Amino acid sequence: MGQRHANRIILPNFFDYDDEHEHVEMSARLAIRESWSSAQLDAFAQSCARVRLKDRRPVCYTDDAAGASDMSFSTHTMAKPLILVTNDDGIRAPSLEALASALEAVGEVHVYAPDRQQSAVGHCVSLHRPLRVTPLGGREQWFMVDGTPTDCVMLAVRNLLGRRPDLVVSGINPGANLGDDVTYSGTVAGAYEGMLLGIASFAISSVNYVPNYLETAGRFATKLARHILEHGLPPDTVLNVNVPDVPYDELSGVAITRMGRRDYKDEIVRRLDPRGGMYYWIGGAEPSHIVESGTDFEAIEHNRISVTPLHRDLTNHAALPRLAEQPIAL
Ligand code: MN
Repeated sequence: MGQRHANRIILPNFFDYDDEHEHVEMSARLAIRESWSSAQLDAFAQSCARVRLKDRRPVCYTDDAAGASDMSFSTHTMAKPLILVTNDDGIRAPSLEALASALEAVGEVHVYAPDRQQSAVGHCVSLHRPLRVTPLGGREQWFMVDGTPTDCVMLAVRNLLGRRPDLVVSGINPGANLGDDVTYSGTVAGAYEGMLLGIASFAISSVNYVPNYLETAGRFATKLARHILEHGLPPDTVLNVNVPDVPYDELSGVAITRMGRRDYKDEIVRRLDPRGGMYYWIGGAEPSHIVESGTDFEAIEHNRISVTPLHRDLTNHAALPRLAEQPIAL
């Protein structure tokens, strides 16, 4: 028996299932006509049940209201969610494998990742050279791109995937992306590009440069992916997630946070190369941060997962009236 909500029906008997970690109740997000009778809902629930039993997959939805206009549903409306995964550490990073394999429990995972280390490339897009896409031997739906995380997401979504992904996930970055780090981060940029393309997206990092508990971040990624597929995200919003590097059961919770501020300790190292030429290398000590409540840094200090909603609009709205009061003359 289907239970009618605003624009979806929930079919509890057909969409309950157990996975490795937890009992999950999935609801079917369905665009249905308000005119449907309860008999039509039940008939549809029955047809879902058959699909459900055939491939044991819980998701059954369509974003296309017109497609729900009669009782004949094409198979594509029953497809598993398509999840695009990228990172900035390169396709061979163990942390990418940890993320992709965890998300297999949620949907059909396709990986498009840089062929080499691309950390701290920010939202760089390659406009002045061709890009090559190569299947990774032995891995179905894994492709390496000789470009940036942004290139990967753009190529996959605009051309290669064949259908629009339901979710873009970037990570798991080994090392925090907290506060001002987000502007440098290729990991965050991969998810940001997904958001620009109108797809629900999040970036996920483990706060340790050499993570001991990648499965903690992987497990939270599956939880968050399910949550987003069910509830969606606010418009023009991408989530930046940072996960303490501890066993999952030792986490203290999840905090919705704002971006804090870094205190970088960068030092420019100046040396001579073997042929007498000067070179410079950006180095220095580990960055610290400014202690403020409600920030991503504070969440991590308290052993909580930090989830920061980043907005597409970088305008400082509070500054608009003040700048307008002191007009800048031509
Ligand atoms: Mn990285």
